Amino acid sequence: MTALAGQRARMVEEQLRARGIRDPRVLAAMSRVPREAFVESEHIRDAYGDHPVPIGAGQTVSQPYIVAAMVEALELRPQDRVLEVGTGTGYEAAILAELAAEVWTVERHAELAEKAREILAGLGYSEVHVVHGDGSLGLAEQAPFDKILVAAAAPRIPESLVSQLADGGRLVAPVGSRSEQQVHIARKQGRETIVTTHELCRFVPLVGAEGWEG
Ligand code: SAM
Repeated sequence: MTALAGQRARMVEEQLRARGIRDPRVLAAMSRVPREAFVESEHIRDAYGDHPVPIGAGQTVSQPYIVAAMVEALELRPQDRVLEVGTGTGYEAAILAELAAEVWTVERHAELAEKAREILAGLGYSEVHVVHGDGSLGLAEQAPFDKILVAAAAPRIPESLVSQLADGGRLVAPVGSRSEQQVHIARKQGRETIVTTHELCRFVPLVGAEGWEG
């Protein structure tokens, strides 16, 4: 086992399993995806650290635990079509692709979208489609989605995203102020959307028409 593969295995045991991530499929996906491939070479030593890592354009890739907790909360099934808002490096999109059929991911910074597209293609994730744009509005032309993961802090759950959820679908998003949020889970059942609130978290802001002003 290489040193980085050893760090990945330790991350899964010490940061995920020990803190209550239980879904064996999520743990297996987090054991497989090489996080080091998504971070800049100057941050490789931090790739499996228990904290977010800078990725350029003033953004970060989230701490492994929060990635696992939010992906677990989606309750992904192999046939799911998923929308991620906030591609960043593409790391979380790769985790989603390990667990679902198709992933659409939107990033507002063109340079991050381009880099993520290259890394994902290089690793063979052909089921991930990276789109440059304002993901707070979702991707109407590809809707409906079975699951939606918002990877940036929203002031409220964007209505466009709820409208693009399939019946029975599930959306997971950090919602709150610019500085602190709580994970929200929205489940769509017919005309009703049931929202529950969960753990505290800190994300960079969702900047866009249904997010914060830039
Ligand atoms: N999921 C990412 C990963 O695996 O690297 C990390 C996401 S990072 C915490 C949040 C990302 O959301 C940033 O890259 C940021 O540019 C992006 N973002 C913020 N507002 C956005 C919007 N309206 N549409 C698309 N992306 C947005």
